[in-house]
Amino acid sequence: MRVYDVIVIGAGPAGIAASAYAHRLGLDTLLIYSKFGGQLNYTHNLYSVISASDIYCTALIKLYFDLVHDIDKIECEISKIHKEEDVFVVEGSASTFYSRTVIVCTGRRPQIPEFDGYSGEIFSFLDFPYSTVTKTDKVLIVGGGYTGLDICEMIAKKVNSIVVVERSNRLGGNKERQMRARREQNVAFFFESVVQFSREIPAAASVFTKNKQCSTIEFSKLFACVGTKPNTEFLDKRLLSNDNAFSINMNHNEKQNENMSPFIAGLYAAGDVIDRPITGYATIAESSGLEAAIAVYNFLLNKGTLR
Ligand SMILES: Cc1cc2nc3c(=O)[nH]c(=O)nc-3n(C[C@H](O)[C@H](O)[C@H](O)COP(=O)(O)OP(=O)(O)OC[C@H]3O[C@@H](n4cnc5c(N)ncnc54)[C@H](O)[C@@H]3O)c2cc1C
Repeated sequence: MRVYDVIVIGAGPAGIAASAYAHRLGLDTLLIYSKFGGQLNYTHNLYSVISASDIYCTALIKLYFDLVHDIDKIECEISKIHKEEDVFVVEGSASTFYSRTVIVCTGRRPQIPEFDGYSGEIFSFLDFPYSTVTKTDKVLIVGGGYTGLDICEMIAKKVNSIVVVERSNRLGGNKERQMRARREQNVAFFFESVVQFSREIPAAASVFTKNKQCSTIEFSKLFACVGTKPNTEFLDKRLLSNDNAFSINMNHNEKQNENMSPFIAGLYAAGDVIDRPITGYATIAESSGLEAAIAVYNFLLNKGTLR
């Protein structure tokens, strides 16, 4: 049975940075992922990478792939992790893997709301049918965060019209991206507004502003961009910091370890999966991956189990 020094789960920016750096530190590393590149597969370009602002995500994913070319990798969905004595048992669809430490970098996925009165299809950034949108499409986007803006950018030239309904008084993303979306002639924004649907008119929504003014918006595709939640289903609930956020608590405490508590020794997390105020930036995910790799190295060093 091969026992790795570290298994990294998820190959978005966090998992790629964690595995690349763990490997450089000389750790026997396995990278397990379900989709290489993570959320970058669903976005166009990034501005937040300081050294390469406005980089296409396809180019970044290629760079990432080169970065981990000599690391053991396997494409596999992980369904369970538990610890037997000092070894983590990582159960996946392809096989079971063993490791002294684990870094969970499984990121986030879209939250799909239930809209009262609407029974049609709701798309998210994971399954938006980019290739099938046509000039006749009228797209309604609920939520004007960075994913809402991203979708505007990707489809504005391809569709008839886009309406973005945002609950707050401002858009997400950075200024440059906001201006680009606002310059599109066929994109309209409603701020401090909410949508309501009725069963009688399935292809239209009522948009209510703060002053209760109502507009009727016809649409052919509905896109929900109302936030994300961490991918942590495969973890024992006791490993998560709270029942609502289901994120991993990073506060390790050696004295409280060795059972499946939030403080289990050797279990680390990085990137968007962590419950903290700043998520949704690829570079922040990268740097926390690096941090986790160094933490793992120090953990193994202190235990005297470095080979
Ligand atoms: C539309 C959109 C636009 C964005 N725009 C920007 C931007 O302009 N600038 C910016 O900095 N950031 C942007 N982001 C955010 C950025 O992409 C994320 O912050 C970053 O990808 C998070 O990295 P991560 O590694 O933590 O997680 P993720 O990228 O989410 O990667 C996690 C990976 O783990 C996999 N996984 C989950 N569960 C399992 C399991 N059980 N077994 C195996 N694998 C699993 C997932 O499938 C995924 O591939 C955008 C994101 C989206 C969706």
